[in-house]
Amino acid sequence: MTKNASQVEELGDNHIATSVETPLRPDAFEHSDEEKIENIQGLFGQIMEELGLDLTDESLSGTPYRFAKMYVKELFYGLNPQKKPKISTFPNTYGYKQLLVEQNINIDSSCEHHFLPIVGKAHVGYIPKDRVVGLSKINRLVDYYAHRPQVQERLCLQIMKDLQKILDTPDVIVLVEAKHLCVSSRGIKDKDSFTSTLEYGGCFSEESLRKEFYDLLKPTLD
Ligand SMILES: [Zn+2]
Repeated sequence: MTKNASQVEELGDNHIATSVETPLRPDAFEHSDEEKIENIQGLFGQIMEELGLDLTDESLSGTPYRFAKMYVKELFYGLNPQKKPKISTFPNTYGYKQLLVEQNINIDSSCEHHFLPIVGKAHVGYIPKDRVVGLSKINRLVDYYAHRPQVQERLCLQIMKDLQKILDTPDVIVLVEAKHLCVSSRGIKDKDSFTSTLEYGGCFSEESLRKEFYDLLKPTLD
């Protein structure tokens, strides 16, 4: 059930994440993408009209469709498990057993409380066991989990937990640094602050290994 205005005001801008899994309805994908686009187009048109906009204006008339297509096909494609990138692993034939870091992976996500952009970088490290993945697959996995309505803490956890499963090792560390437009463009309007979230498992509970990970990272956000 959705909360009414006073309940939401009381919660304020506190970013609450309820679970590691994105809260999806059981019937989330009963509609095809095309049906979703058609429905959202109508609904967003109503929002624009309620705001007082004239949808017969040439510049605005295509907006509800553009908006709906962008939501379903681009910004939130990562809600649909069928769009998850196929990630195959390879035997660790080099016997490489040290830290590997993939850094400065772009994050283009959206905050689930305001539906405004979350923009930043992810840095992922792991210590290979028996299997390794192609490096760009880590970027694709990050991109997939980012393209949902998100909470940064959950995004960080989802990336880590999936990589632990794929790589069959708990030795994974994920740092996400991101700016939230709901903080910079409205509310407190702080343009400079950004948020860092860190999740790790296995041997990264050792401080020396976390330090090795940080030492490999170059400054990333201006
Ligand atoms: Zn927000």
